Formats: sequence, structure tokens, C-alpha cells
Amino acid sequence: MSREFDYEEEFHAQDKKKSRKDRRHAQETDRSKFKKTDQNKTVAPPIDRTLPQGKVVAISGEGAWVEANGERFLCSIKGFLKKEKVQAKNILAVGDLIRYTHEHSIAHIEERYSFLARRDVSGKKEQLIAVNIDQAIIVVSVVNPELKPALIDRYIIAAKKGNIHPIIVVNKIDLLNGGEEEKRYREFVASYEKLGLPILSISTTKLIGLDALSSLLKNKTSVFSGQSGVGKSSLLNTSYGFNLRIGGLAHKTSKGTHTTTTAQLISLPGGGYCVDTPGVKSFGIWKLTKEEVSGHFHEFALYKCKYPDCAHINEPQCGVLSALSEGEISPLRYESYRTLMDEAVGGSDNRAKKKENHEPN
Ligand code: GDP
Ligand code: ZN
Repeated sequence: MSREFDYEEEFHAQDKKKSRKDRRHAQETDRSKFKKTDQNKTVAPPIDRTLPQGKVVAISGEGAWVEANGERFLCSIKGFLKKEKVQAKNILAVGDLIRYTHEHSIAHIEERYSFLARRDVSGKKEQLIAVNIDQAIIVVSVVNPELKPALIDRYIIAAKKGNIHPIIVVNKIDLLNGGEEEKRYREFVASYEKLGLPILSISTTKLIGLDALSSLLKNKTSVFSGQSGVGKSSLLNTSYGFNLRIGGLAHKTSKGTHTTTTAQLISLPGGGYCVDTPGVKSFGIWKLTKEEVSGHFHEFALYKCKYPDCAHINEPQCGVLSALSEGEISPLRYESYRTLMDEAVGGSDNRAKKKENHEPN
């Protein structure tokens, strides 16, 4: 066999390989046909890196509002994206980094580094609320409304699941004046600090700690969560001069019951964004599993139980229950564990759904 032939054969083999590759490429980019594999895809076909980049700040019936170079404009959503949308419910989300054509049509969605999701109304599908969020600001108050540790833990787990960094903000500290409530506050801070979570104590009305919060938000994309009445709108209004309605009526239309449904990114003066999620100020967890719950209560593993699969409920010689009775585990933490374990998949699932639907936001 001559060298030339070798080369020739190799050449043709390469050629074949190339044309196979080209064919595959053409098939992959031909979005007129919907393929099974599309179902799990969140990233669209090959990227034309010469196209300019922008950020999706809102999505409406007309298309997506994109921010690029300090301007906001409407972009249409191309055919292939619409097709995928049918399968994955919402393939494009607020916070997406995209590339757009000269005709202002979205050509590509960049890979996401984080996501915030919840169950849709049917309870069966995952619904993206927003993506590429850096941190979840979990706002709580000790008095009016009182602490709800299970709800807080639920937010923490949901945030971590989407690769979002949780930060706890205790608002209304002006209402603490010694006594039981202050004790509860200290216990709460101590047990969540142990988890390594940043905790900020603030008072919106007394302007305590607001600067520290603003510097945490600077140049980041943050989502606020927490039950209604804890002061989320107030603290954003006070810190940034926004005009969000106080008292839980924000975003309601004149009919009072109908809420707008899509999230949007609001620019923060000084840099950064916050996600405004009308009607879903709080977010539930998509398929919370028992493993995720025990992962969140990882400090329980320090205590030895008689049974290796001990659920720490009423088992004999349970290390967690004795640590609880000896005050080594906070009752706040244990109560929350019980609530979330009850709700986790594989537990009493129906109850979990019911609770989630009625969860205050
Ligand atoms: P949201 O539902 O979480 O957005 O809460 P709002 O911002 O609507 O606040 C609920 C109520 O808490 C309002 O009456 C606020 O005036 C009040 N509030 C907010 N922040 C503070 C605070 O730091 N201290 C006290 N005492 N009240 C506050
Ligand atoms: Zn146990």
C-alpha cells in the first residue's frame, strides 16, 4: 500500500466523517422537526458568537424584553425556541443571557448557572421563575409575623437546589424588647449561623443595617423571598426609593384577585438586579426528597442512633431525640425537620401538596 493511498483513504474517510458530521449538524440545527431529545434540552443549537449578547429582563406575550448596552428593547422568540417551550413549559426565562440577531430575534440562550423553580399549578411540572440568580434573600421576622422555621428551611433548600446562595435577613428587630421573643431570635440566629449561612439583622423602620444589605445586593442578581408581611416591599422601597405597595397588596390588579404572572428583573440603583416575582414572592420546592431534607439537617448525623435508618421520631435510643431533650439541638430546628420530612416525597405526599398550595406568600 502506497503512502499516497493511505492518505487518500484517510482523506476520504475524513471526508465521509465530515459529511456525516455536517449532516448531523444540519439535523441538529433543523428545528422544523421536533425530536425526542429536545425534551431535556435547555440550550439551543450552535452559537453564532458574532451576535451581540443581552439579558432577558421580562417576558410578555409580545416577546422578551432584553437589556443590552444600557438599553431595553423587545425581541421576538424564534421558532425553535417556541417549539421547545411547548415541551419544557418555559424554555426562556427572566435572567437568561441570550444572543440576538439584527432583527431583534433571540437566536441562542447561554447556559444557565442557577435557576429558581417551583411546581406549576398542576403540581406535575417544574416551572422556571427566573435563572442566573446569585442569591436568595430570605426575609423573616420574629414578631408580627412570627418565625416559621420550616418555611425558612424550605427556601434554603430550594435556593441551594438551584445553585443560589441563601442569605437570611431578620427584619423588624426594632420590635424585639427582651423577653421570649428576643430569646427565640437569639436561638434562631445561633442555630442558622451554625449552618454557615450569612444572617443580617435589620430594621427597615429604624434604618438599622440597610447599608449592609445594600452592599450585599450590589452588582448581584437577588431574589427576595419570605412570607407576606415580613417587610420585603418596605425594605426595597426604603433602600432604593422604589414604590412597591406595602401591606401585601402589591401587584394585584384592580380586581384584587388576579395577579400578574411573570417575573421581571428590576435594576438596582448602584448596580445589580432584584427579581420581582408577582404572586410568587415565596417559592415552593420542586420534588423535595427525604435525602434533601436530611442533607439540610446534616448536623443530626453527629448523633448516634440505635438504628442506622433511624427517622428520629419515636425510635428507642435515638441520639437526635436525646440531643433535643438535652438542649443540644434546638427545638426550632427539630420542629422544622419533622414538618419537612412529612412533606418530602415518599412521605405523606398529598399533605405536602395541600400545604404548598396554601402556603402564605
Ligand atoms: P411584604 O409583604 O413582605 O412586602 O411586607 P411589607 O413591606 O408590605 O410590610 C408589612 C408591614 O410591616 C408594613 O406595615 C410595614 O410598615 C411593616 N414593617 C416593615 N419593616 C418593618 C420594620 O423594620 N419594623 C417594623 N416595626 N415594621 C416594619
Ligand atoms: Zn434517631
